Amino acid sequence: QLEEVNKELEDFVYSVSHDLRAPLRSISGFAEIIDRRHKAFLNEEGQHYFDNIIKASKQMGELIDDLLKFSRIGRKAIKIEPVALGDVLKKTMETLSDQIKKTGARVNLPGQMPFIQGDLTLATHIFINLLENGLKYQKPDEAPCIDIGVAVKDQMVLVSIADNGIGIEPEYHDKIFKIFQRLHSQEDYPGTGIGLAAVKKSLQIMGGEVRVESALGKGSVFRISFLKH
Ligand code: ADP
Repeated sequence: QLEEVNKELEDFVYSVSHDLRAPLRSISGFAEIIDRRHKAFLNEEGQHYFDNIIKASKQMGELIDDLLKFSRIGRKAIKIEPVALGDVLKKTMETLSDQIKKTGARVNLPGQMPFIQGDLTLATHIFINLLENGLKYQKPDEAPCIDIGVAVKDQMVLVSIADNGIGIEPEYHDKIFKIFQRLHSQEDYPGTGIGLAAVKKSLQIMGGEVRVESALGKGSVFRISFLKH
């Protein structure tokens, strides 16, 4: 029964996020036209409110896109097969290369990388999400440094992703894995609050787990596990 209710809820989230896209696209489209052709006719107060409308619709677009991506996890057929962790990290580093350059970050990869039993796309998205966070939640005066470690224990491959960023107070260590839960304002650190929920969901599908060890101002270590091939 619980599975059925869960499935219904997932279908609901999927169709809501899917159906909200079209009206939002039309709001953004018309707003852009006003911005281009008619904004000069508004007074300063009007222009300020209008800028806020555009900013909010952009933020809503990002939320809906992320929500749709989240509800797509597990809907598409998932291929669990032997995957080289080295390939996953290579893809991740390629995807993030611009961001890594821009932030002046150092990313230290492990020398030896085993095979996991998982889905290549899901695994790559897990690393992209975690590394993106490591690059984003940084102290303002320090370049990001991310250390990735790997160990094999019994039937599991254990991976740690450690950053030197702003850290997370222990009372929030469970909360951050829930959808839409964020600890910062859009102005300080933009985001949708869906990334870590997606990481957790993807790992659960592949038989793994995620947890965090961190303290405020002391960096964070995200520990994830995969089934070993
Ligand atoms: P988003 O980054 O879009 O807000 P996430 O689900 O990825 O969403 O993260 C949820 C929250 O957890 C973030 O808003 C942030 O407050 C906190 N967080 C995630 N990763 C880190 C990190 N590496 N260092 C500090 N805080 C983090």
